[in-house]
Amino acid sequence: MYCALKSFKNAKNKKTIVALICVISFIVFFLLSEAFIIVNANHEHNTNGVNGSCSICDQIKNFENLLNQFRMAIKYALIIFVIFLSMIFVSFHVVSLCENKTLVELRIRINN
Ligand SMILES: [Zn+2]
Repeated sequence: MYCALKSFKNAKNKKTIVALICVISFIVFFLLSEAFIIVNANHEHNTNGVNGSCSICDQIKNFENLLNQFRMAIKYALIIFVIFLSMIFVSFHVVSLCENKTLVELRIRINN
């Protein structure tokens, strides 16, 4: 948060500010959608929707589908991120194992 405020004061990193606004708007959208679903869970059905269906039920279904799609996208993004991090970790480990070290660095005596 301190970093975000500092970048906001300096106005140097506009990408950070835009990314923060996007993340905050996504979170607000999630919370408001969940609130709508919770508030209208026990509603009185009407016939104002398409083909005489209940308009509130249609909205709830739309929000649920949208939220499920976002959850799936976030889940796959997290899986790909974890795979990416593990690949970086493994590659650094392999590189550190393959470094050419001298016998002095390895503390090996050859005059025994
Ligand atoms: Zn309904």
